[in-house]
Amino acid sequence: MTGVPRLEDLADRLDLRGRSVLLRADFNVPISDGEITDDLRIRAALPTMRWLLGAGARITACTHLGRPKGRPDPAFSVGPVRARLAELVPEVELLDNLRFDPGETANDPEFVQRLIAGHDAYVNDAFGASHRFHASIVGPPRFLPSAAGRLLEREVEILGELRQNPRRPFVAVMGGSKVSDKLAVIEALLEVVDSLVIGGGMCFTFLKARGHSVGTSLCEDDMVDTCRRLLDGPKPIHLPIDITALGPGGRLLDPTAGGEVRQMGASLPEGWMGVDIGPGTAAEFGDIIHEAGTVLWNGPMGVFEDPRFGGGTGAVAHAMAECRAFTIVGGGDSAAAAKQFGVDKEMDHVSTGGGAALELIEKGDLPGLAALRGAPGVNTEV
Ligand code: ADP
Ligand code: MG
Repeated sequence: MTGVPRLEDLADRLDLRGRSVLLRADFNVPISDGEITDDLRIRAALPTMRWLLGAGARITACTHLGRPKGRPDPAFSVGPVRARLAELVPEVELLDNLRFDPGETANDPEFVQRLIAGHDAYVNDAFGASHRFHASIVGPPRFLPSAAGRLLEREVEILGELRQNPRRPFVAVMGGSKVSDKLAVIEALLEVVDSLVIGGGMCFTFLKARGHSVGTSLCEDDMVDTCRRLLDGPKPIHLPIDITALGPGGRLLDPTAGGEVRQMGASLPEGWMGVDIGPGTAAEFGDIIHEAGTVLWNGPMGVFEDPRFGGGTGAVAHAMAECRAFTIVGGGDSAAAAKQFGVDKEMDHVSTGGGAALELIEKGDLPGLAALRGAPGVNTEV
């Protein structure tokens, strides 16, 4: 975490007893019918909150929740989060949803002043939001003594280490829907990995670049040339050798609609849609994972939300759980998949930030980290 102040650095320069700390957390938890369905993000910030309370500070926490349109909206109330916090750490106060004010996403200086009013210090533990130039992320550290919380610190250490000094062989397993979403990350990863494994929706653009027919699978025609260039590069890129495909008339997430499900080779006939890697590919990807020293996994291997097409993602998840490598899961849907297959606890690190994790891997820095580095009184020597 070069140059980013930690909680200890903050306490060194400011006696926190009786001081008021503004804590930017990422409490953007899934809520259904007013109930939190997974409080992981709240519990993940507990070490920071407990440390600050132990140092004698008072905490005012703030978070965004969902995507309200810059005005108060009861559908995005932080009420359920406040209730859960009251059970876990009753001392902590929670402000309203930051995105109820348009100043948050606009990084409005006036909103920043309102946020920091009455506070003596700022702590950012919102890794999942630290790739954004939002008021609560980049504003307060311009004015208040600041530090990274424990969660942010750990994410940066683990994901930063990947670029610096990974245990080799370092294998990245990429999937998910689109190449275009992740091209910059794939290119950055190709600089540091020993090999890249590609499944999920994005594999079809790569397969097309290798001359395969892809039927009605997700395919970005304008990315085919780019994929061909990557395939011609120096690092090995492993593509599926077989595919689980859904035939004409079939519908995703709806087994009653009919449509045949078949295992096929890497070329698909007209009218068939590739929706998972096949069992041969799953076994091969598993072998690669078992031989790795570090595995970074981002993006499901298939449409795992449909149980008919979860096999490839489950195989990768289980191979990661069983292998000896240092294992990291990044990406919201990948983390959800690891949990769904019951192996999230077996991973060395499940990142709490999807976009932030990918941007940190890609660029080696985030706006939120740069802001903390520049906070008043922070030693700028590296
Ligand atoms: P993450 O959130 O882990 O970064 P993404 O958001 O990139 O992952 O991708 C997740 C989505 O990709 C899932 O909803 C999954 O259904 C979809 N997906 C995976 N494989 C395919 C495929 N073959 N065709 C269409 N969509 C796919
Ligand atoms: Mg996603």
